[in-house]
Amino acid sequence: MDVLHHPSPVLKARAHEVDVTSDPALRDLVRAMAETMYEESGIGLAAPQVGVDKRVIVFDVDDRLAALCNPVIVEFGEETVVDDEGCLSVPGITVPVERSTRVVCTGLTLEGRDITIEAEDLLARVLQHEIDHLDGVLILDRCPGDMKKAIVRAYNEANNL
Ligand SMILES: [Zn+2]
Repeated sequence: MDVLHHPSPVLKARAHEVDVTSDPALRDLVRAMAETMYEESGIGLAAPQVGVDKRVIVFDVDDRLAALCNPVIVEFGEETVVDDEGCLSVPGITVPVERSTRVVCTGLTLEGRDITIEAEDLLARVLQHEIDHLDGVLILDRCPGDMKKAIVRAYNEANNL
């Protein structure tokens, strides 16, 4: 699968919830997304990044592949930290993004089972990043206001836009 790059309009749209029990394409989608993520050396990928309007993410932090359908962050820890983030859909640059260091995330497995993930540090950051994609939010939208112009310029230069 090809990863869409900013400014693709698909990346700006809110993706729709999936019906896990009656969507036979989900398993193939997740498999293809995982392949694409590994090919691109990413640690997370959201379905809109491959042009699919579904609330599905895959991620691999600590050498364990996981997929989550309809993920929702139900709790953001109070403590936040700013760290540089890259994105397969915003290639060539990194952006300092403030994120909670701890989140609680709910969602469904491919089998339709409810799952709750208590995540910290890198996993917490990846989940916030990927779920942002499902809401049409990119790291460019999260960068500090006074840096936005310079970051957009750097992105355009890196991608010959
Ligand atoms: Zn991304």
